Amino acid sequence: MQEDIIEKLIEQFRSLPGVGYKTAQRYAFSIIEGKDERAKRFADAIIDAKSKIKFCKECGNFTDKDICSICENRNKKIICVVKEPKDILAMEKVKSFDGVYHVLFGTISPLENKGPDDIKIKELLHRVQKDNVEEVIMATNPDVEGDATAMYIAKILKPLGVKVTRLAQGIAMGSELEYADEVTLSKALEARREIN
Ligand SMILES: [Zn+2]
Repeated sequence: MQEDIIEKLIEQFRSLPGVGYKTAQRYAFSIIEGKDERAKRFADAIIDAKSKIKFCKECGNFTDKDICSICENRNKKIICVVKEPKDILAMEKVKSFDGVYHVLFGTISPLENKGPDDIKIKELLHRVQKDNVEEVIMATNPDVEGDATAMYIAKILKPLGVKVTRLAQGIAMGSELEYADEVTLSKALEARREIN
């Protein structure tokens, strides 16, 4: 019985990305052997995050309010477009960036049967017009889908007189934004090029 309870906890840790059985076992024993308050803080933090965190109505970022603090406080004339909310966290490592973000919640991918209407492109277009945006920086991952999505968005935004740029290649082709370090991202942002 007692093994079942431990096994259940191990299984929960194992369901997290990148956690194998051995690591899950270490986490489980660390919780069991640690103080009661620590286990409670851990459980509370999970429940709190899960129940309070939602998507910003403007940009799609994670927030516990209707509009996130980035949308509230920053320069709306520059929008950095990313694939997923977690990419915002990666881009925020670049301290010099003062613009806002737009999460697409995916990329155009014929393989996954995802077209332009399946991701938040209409919403981006709406924001560009509403806020008289001057530059849209495409920071989708440097892979086939990310590039195709950047090209597609550039094509529809160009006629509106918006400058559309793409992060410079510095982030290795095929890699993901979230794993790029601060220096690489800063350089990629500084050396961004206009999509023609
Ligand atoms: Zn926001």
